Amino acid sequence: MSETIFSKIIEGSIPSQKVFENERIYAFHDIQPAAPVHVLIVPKKPIPSLNEIEQDDLAVIGEIHQVAVRLAQELGIAESGYRVINNCGSDGGQTVSHLHFHLLGGTKLGALTGISGSHE
Ligand code: 5GP
Repeated sequence: MSETIFSKIIEGSIPSQKVFENERIYAFHDIQPAAPVHVLIVPKKPIPSLNEIEQDDLAVIGEIHQVAVRLAQELGIAESGYRVINNCGSDGGQTVSHLHFHLLGGTKLGALTGISGSHE
């Protein structure tokens, strides 16, 4: 499986602003925040995208959402609200081929899809 920038962040060879880590999950601030709070929550296992998840990965995906709630509380957006997003594949806007979930909040978030281009 090819190494991505997130593997290097997880192993520490590329620096990041870490907000959470355990044996299975690593979370850090996005380098180009799309909202006042923008954290990436990543399984350490280098699953390329949601398309490749296996039965054994379901627990960590559940745990990622538990971590999202915990981080939303710690970062002060649990009550005001937030969004947890996974971009899958090219049309989904995925740019890094290592499964990750965006935690976004701290402002009123805009349209869900942000559709671009023509849809005839
Ligand atoms: P995607 O578009 O694949 O759903 O999300 C990838 C995210 O990774 C983007 O929001 C992008 O800003 C972020 N990102 C890309 N490279 C780096 C990096 O080196 N460090 C950090 N902290 N975030 C990155």
